[in-house]
Amino acid sequence: AVHTETHGFQTEVKQLLNLMAHSLYSNKEVFLRELVSNAADAADKLRFKALSDSELYENDGHLRVRLILDKDNKTLTISDNGIGMSRDEVIEHLGTIAKSGTKAFFSQLSGDQARDSQLIGQFGVGFYSAFIVADKVTVLSRAAGQAADRGVRWESDGDGSFTVADIEKTGRGTDVILHLREEEQEFLDDWRLRSIIGKYSDHISIAVEMWKDGEPEREEDGEKIPATEGEWEQVNKATALWTRAKGEVSDEEYQEFYKHISHDWQDALAWSHNKVEGNQEYTSLLYVPAKAPWDMWNRDQSHGLKLYVQRVFIMDDAEQFMPTYLRFVKGVLDSNDLPLNVSREILQDNKVTAQLRKACSKRVLSLLEQMARNEPEKYQGFWKEFGNVLKEGPAEDYGNREQIAGLLRFASTHNDADAQSVSLDDYLGRMKEGQDKIYYITADSYAAASHSPHLEIFRKKGIEVLLMWERVDEWLMNHLSDYKEKQFVSVTKGELDLGELDDEETKKAQEAAKEALAPLLERVKTALGEEVKEVRLSHRLTSTPSCVVAGEHDMSTQMIKLMRAAGQ
Ligand code: ADP
Ligand code: MG
Repeated sequence: AVHTETHGFQTEVKQLLNLMAHSLYSNKEVFLRELVSNAADAADKLRFKALSDSELYENDGHLRVRLILDKDNKTLTISDNGIGMSRDEVIEHLGTIAKSGTKAFFSQLSGDQARDSQLIGQFGVGFYSAFIVADKVTVLSRAAGQAADRGVRWESDGDGSFTVADIEKTGRGTDVILHLREEEQEFLDDWRLRSIIGKYSDHISIAVEMWKDGEPEREEDGEKIPATEGEWEQVNKATALWTRAKGEVSDEEYQEFYKHISHDWQDALAWSHNKVEGNQEYTSLLYVPAKAPWDMWNRDQSHGLKLYVQRVFIMDDAEQFMPTYLRFVKGVLDSNDLPLNVSREILQDNKVTAQLRKACSKRVLSLLEQMARNEPEKYQGFWKEFGNVLKEGPAEDYGNREQIAGLLRFASTHNDADAQSVSLDDYLGRMKEGQDKIYYITADSYAAASHSPHLEIFRKKGIEVLLMWERVDEWLMNHLSDYKEKQFVSVTKGELDLGELDDEETKKAQEAAKEALAPLLERVKTALGEEVKEVRLSHRLTSTPSCVVAGEHDMSTQMIKLMRAAGQ
């Protein structure tokens, strides 16, 4: 009995479908990239599962995806022999969006088409992009290892619900049948399809095949219609991109591969591709995106690299290979040293993992250094998107503290603007004769930092002070005590000792003032009583009469505010 059910899409899927047809239209051919990408993922998953159960191949180990044109019925079918889906899986995967933070994401959409389509692109539309060109989509699937009568048919015209029915399906895997809209008949053009595949799918590690001449065998109403002459022909290169030599891969190919693994629709900002032989053997291909993902600050957002062992896909989001402060990095790691049966648990504390993580971190840091050196404007763009994440680095990665510090950018009294563009090396280069400290101030906002009375003496003496006001800055400065042997000193904390920067005459004048004003200080102290720890004569103010400072070993006022905000 055909057991047919109708299901409603999750609310977010409905929203996505509504938006997509309008917003993504200018980019419509990407549906093919998404569907071929899913077929490749399905092949990867089957290979992985077959490592421990080779029966799953069912004597059909040549994994491929086929594009089948049917001009009479105006359908384009994307057919794979990958892992396939069970009835439950179909309902779950093609009816909901599983990503964490989905609800939060959709609540950000504004109704402004241009802006929303940007966001949607970043979010990744995946399978649902089929509805950009199709007004009805039929999916036939049968999971690897299941009997032929455990097949399932999913069907929807994208308007809010879908149906699911049990069917017979001899061949393992998934067929996605697109009933093309009247105005999308260009996708029935053999040549057009080949050129899109050439653009999007050369780097995919399975063969994309099309029938050459005539028509392939097909089934109509349960009846087999034999092929007319011709044969299947592979139309992509089908070599995993990272296995190729650097010199043979074009920038366009790197960018396409980035989109395949990241689900990003925009080009990457930069990448680093390395093949390492010897003690450790691995290939890494690491990308820095151009834009921060919408959920970068979401704690349970998944991140990490796509892990392969000896070219076999093992898992997505292997976060063990990237420290948290580099969580924006996307890429592939293919190791020859890890066992094929490696699991997340095994990765947890494993010597090889630790080495690879160190090596990958270094790669990213030097990629960023190069960018900062050779393309400062591009680096500024990177900093705007990811600077606040990188600031978590010195606390997390003590060993690379100095290198990370070199990548930080700050606003400062030097250019008196809120743009964060001053590096610590810039600062060192401008230090005054006799200055041996790096001065900084943390506050609630740029305005509060740059107008702080604590800066008066520094401005007067022409000593540069770094201005900080981001939430993470206090945390950063708690873990960064020095850079190139110069200590960081907060201008708001404790006794201000300008050391060599004070000349003899000033020092004498200060001594005299100290004696003269001692009785006044005593009176103020008595008046304020327990409210303050100490009343002290200060030389740091030039026009403001007095200010409150934190003790040298106390939390700064900024940190106190942070703790209060956190309810402590
Ligand atoms: P993503 O690929 O980012 O997970 P998609 O929307 O592209 O998101 O696909 C959703 C899910 O549907 C996939 O994660 C996968 O589980 C399932 N899926 C889609 N296409 C296929 C396919 N051809 N074979 C097996 N599973 C598939
Ligand atoms: Mg996908």
